[in-house]
Amino acid sequence: MAGRKGTGPWDPYTGADLGEGEWIEYSPAQKAGLDAPRFCPECGRRRVIQVTPHGWTAVCSRHGETDSAVADLR
Ligand SMILES: [Zn+2]
Repeated sequence: MAGRKGTGPWDPYTGADLGEGEWIEYSPAQKAGLDAPRFCPECGRRRVIQVTPHGWTAVCSRHGETDSAVADLR
């Protein structure tokens, strides 16, 4: 467990602690899926975002890489 704050899971776009009942409101770009999810939903850490020709990849120092092709499955 990260133990950084709260319990998670965390919202990947805003970093809000969903486990603590934080409410989130997405921006238009986030609703459209145009914005890369900068936060790891598993630990709430800020991820390293790289924009690629196909979308983006997001790398968490603990949980590794996610790319936009995977996120589209939501
Ligand atoms: Zn993580």
